[in-house]
Amino acid sequence: MAYQTTNPYTNEVVKTYENATPEYVEESLAKAQKLYKEWRNDPVFTRTPVLHKLAQIFRDETDSLAKVLTTEMGKLYTEAKGEVILCAMIADYYADHAGEFLAPRKIDSIAGEAQLENHPLGVLLAVEPWNFPYYQMMRIFAPNFAAGDPIVYKHAAITPASALAFEDAVRRAGAPEGALTNLFLSYDQVSDVVADKRIQGVALTGSERGGTAVAEVAGKYLKKNTMELGGVDAFIVAHDANMADVKAIAPRARLYNAGQVCTSSKRFIVTANHYDEFLESLKAAFSSVKMGDPMDPETTLAPMNSKKAKEKLQAQVAEAIAGGATPYYVHEPIDDEGQFFMPTILTDIDKSNPAYGKEMFGPVAQVYKVADDDAAVALANDADYGLGGIVFAGSQEAGAKLASRIETGMVFVNTFFSSLPELEFGGVKGSGFGRELGQNGISSFINQELVVKRDRPNDDETGGLILPHKF
Ligand code: NAP
Repeated sequence: MAYQTTNPYTNEVVKTYENATPEYVEESLAKAQKLYKEWRNDPVFTRTPVLHKLAQIFRDETDSLAKVLTTEMGKLYTEAKGEVILCAMIADYYADHAGEFLAPRKIDSIAGEAQLENHPLGVLLAVEPWNFPYYQMMRIFAPNFAAGDPIVYKHAAITPASALAFEDAVRRAGAPEGALTNLFLSYDQVSDVVADKRIQGVALTGSERGGTAVAEVAGKYLKKNTMELGGVDAFIVAHDANMADVKAIAPRARLYNAGQVCTSSKRFIVTANHYDEFLESLKAAFSSVKMGDPMDPETTLAPMNSKKAKEKLQAQVAEAIAGGATPYYVHEPIDDEGQFFMPTILTDIDKSNPAYGKEMFGPVAQVYKVADDDAAVALANDADYGLGGIVFAGSQEAGAKLASRIETGMVFVNTFFSSLPELEFGGVKGSGFGRELGQNGISSFINQELVVKRDRPNDDETGGLILPHKF
């Protein structure tokens, strides 16, 4: 059975789900398309109250919604509650700002009175990952619902209950039928849906592997798409960094969500003067984590999402060590059947190591020693990905100068990486293309329709290339 909830702490198979039938897929697409046609000319403010209601549901039901996440993919209950609240913030944000973001823009032109109008594009397909099951959905749902694009979505095979809980909350918030439909699709069915003429856009968040497969089909059928993919984000400790701040933030930047965050700091790049001190402090933090029941507020490190993910990471670490990396620290094994990965620090990873530049999706830190700040930037940029990044430097100005030199989508200076509704999210290179959240997050699947009007034909004599010549 492809779609299945398995609790990664207890290993209990909670529930399995049937794939969507071809009839249900067809019915869902037809409803979504019908709604798009109805929505086509409805102003944004007719939809935004639903988003406020949805935000209220996420606030009122934080505990129960969070429990679904913890049961299904193992994240700490405290972190799950944070995710639910962030979802409420995103829904409110687009409810409050969509009207302003989608207002028509007047253009000064000799052709006439010109303006760009923002219309919905049509039905979208979203393909989403398990690591933040609600937040990833909200990033795509809230702006596009406000804009008037109905969505069908395929969530990760291991988070079907979260997928259904999100769909249910949207329905209870008052969204019309067809606005958001969960489909338990196989990969082949995903390709068929992408190809369907009613689908006008495809948004995927996931790995480079998944992104490449879906983007290929989207390209074949000329479907606009956004790809939010993985990363090997750098955490640069510059020569003049405040080490007390670095020590406070670095462990969280790697261990939050059991290290399963696209923007986790996967490569700590530390200037030589701070290297030993940094390693010692990271080791102290990694050795003091408390693994256990993710529902227990005392637990500080959750299990990984699945046995499969844990085994993949174990294989990557073994390969890295076989390739010459030093296991500077590995947490002593714990006696627990949950899918816990022992926090690990790897050093001495050279360019020929299989782990160099590879995303390790779990509590494993790669630490690199560099001579100076320039070498830190050069190493940060020596990657096939460019999603986020963190820089710690002696001042925000000095840090920002380094940040601007990093080829990546987002950088935080002297602070923790955070995702908030108003901050554009997205990457470059192998980390994908397009932006979610913020003002740009609502523009990906919009038809910016140009309308030029005047009372009589243009009598302009300039005869420019695109003005019709007089004969
Ligand atoms: P994944 O394997 O690519 O899965 C993501 C989604 O794509 C899932 O719904 C998956 O379905 C689907 N999928 C994968 N291959 C597919 C194919 N050939 N055809 C159709 N659908 C396909 O990614 P993951 O390993 O679950 O998620 C972790 C990755 O996501 C990491 O690389 C992480 O960095 C990245 N991520 C990026 C962002 C961002 O915003 N940039 C945010 C979060 C995570 P199944 O579950 O059924 O395989």
